[in-house]
Amino acid sequence: MDPKEMEQKKQMVLSMCICGSCPSWVACDEKGGFCFPTIGKSNCITEENGCICGGCPVTEKMGLKNMYFCTKGSEKEQLGM
Ligand code: SF4
Ligand code: SF4
Repeated sequence: MDPKEMEQKKQMVLSMCICGSCPSWVACDEKGGFCFPTIGKSNCITEENGCICGGCPVTEKMGLKNMYFCTKGSEKEQLGM
């Protein structure tokens, strides 16, 4: 995927992300999208108080297998890629 395509995909993920409504969410300068490889883990969220990624349209669209991307890393990272 070229950099422009990657950036477009990232913006699409950010526009659909529902992390802001999650009980684990910590408000800081982050915008979510932690499942995305060029975003990855949060620097603000450290406590796992529930994850709503399963209900996010990105999970269905991209066929994500994991959750808690904010604390455990992006989908690629958690798949060991
Ligand atoms: S799957 Fe989770 S981290 Fe990824 S965009 Fe949706 S709510 Fe955010
Ligand atoms: S990745 Fe999951 S646990 Fe983390 S903020 Fe998003 S919905 Fe909540």
